[in-house]
Amino acid sequence: MAADESKFGSCCESLKEAMAGDDFEPLISESEEGILYMSVGIAEMDDKEHGMIDHPMFFCPFCGAKVQTAEEVDAKGGGDEPQTH
Ligand SMILES: [Zn+2]
Repeated sequence: MAADESKFGSCCESLKEAMAGDDFEPLISESEEGILYMSVGIAEMDDKEHGMIDHPMFFCPFCGAKVQTAEEVDAKGGGDEPQTH
């Protein structure tokens, strides 16, 4: 597996394409810790900047395949709490 190839996106082409974001900014992305996050909303920050609210994604929204477990996310330092970036 190439170093720049994610372990996610192998379940179906739809997820792979959604993560690739060739001509758009993907709302589904893998963090540096190897956790797959999906953006669930846009928050207005204190300085009127906008931040994306991310939540760990456990199942592929396209084909329903399980992509990671809560235990895996916990082990990698993620959690249930939504985070902004
Ligand atoms: Zn899928």
